[in-house]
Amino acid sequence: MIRLLLAAIGFLFWSPVTNGIQFNRYHDVSYINRYLHQVARHHPHVSIHRLGLSTEGRPIYYVLITKSRAPDTPVIYVNGTHHGNEKASTEASLGAIDYLSRKHRNIIIDRLLKKYVFLVHPLVNPDGHAANSRLGANGIDPNRDYPTPFSRSEPFQLRETKLVSSLMKKYRFKASAALHSGIEAVLWPWGSSKIASNHAEVFLNLGRVVAQAMKVEKYQQSYHDYKTTGEFIDYAYKVYGTYALTLEVSEEASPSPEKLPLVVSRSVKGLIALAYGLDRVELSH
Ligand SMILES: [Zn+2]
Repeated sequence: MIRLLLAAIGFLFWSPVTNGIQFNRYHDVSYINRYLHQVARHHPHVSIHRLGLSTEGRPIYYVLITKSRAPDTPVIYVNGTHHGNEKASTEASLGAIDYLSRKHRNIIIDRLLKKYVFLVHPLVNPDGHAANSRLGANGIDPNRDYPTPFSRSEPFQLRETKLVSSLMKKYRFKASAALHSGIEAVLWPWGSSKIASNHAEVFLNLGRVVAQAMKVEKYQQSYHDYKTTGEFIDYAYKVYGTYALTLEVSEEASPSPEKLPLVVSRSVKGLIALAYGLDRVELSH
């Protein structure tokens, strides 16, 4: 089954790129915001939404990509750039938008877009992206700023993580992929404890299929990579039961631009595998 899925995902990528954003360079905040508006204008299945303003006043947008009109359609959330210096994660989330919008007629993508809403939020921390800093504008690490078990610091010190929290409350994500870069791995809750979660088996199965699609070797509970508190995945899983994964998409936070097509393609394959893997989770529960 997994082999069939991987073959199907591989097949999708044989078709040549004909239009859309080019991943031969990094894109800045203003280009990204223009691109998001442009995609929404040109694709009937894509809509753009303004989430709010960053600490330094940059507008933050997300897009919804779906062919379903049912109000209870499960939502898969993809975010990039919790850490502003991890620019591969930004480009990977743009790659997801590009791919899902351009390939919407493909039989596999068509089916996923009828079954799910993909909510893609490429710039969680646009101030960090503009400054090429891991941190938010007030010096707080966004991916240590959520209220999670064993967290010692005061949560939600950043406006940007509060905005993520408002999105979670509104859409109650079925699954999510928080994109990061700096290692290659697929990780899941808990990051704050070595105790296995109640869904450890589901996470292992999902993590494995995503890692295989991405061709990365490491997939494990986040704690066993290293212990952290205040991470998005722990918060999303704890509060909403979201099947929340961290996808670390590149050994380097911002690799040389010629490596970007591979990073983007690997990330999109991982996201499609996540959506497919969810079907099997639903069947087995
Ligand atoms: Zn990161």
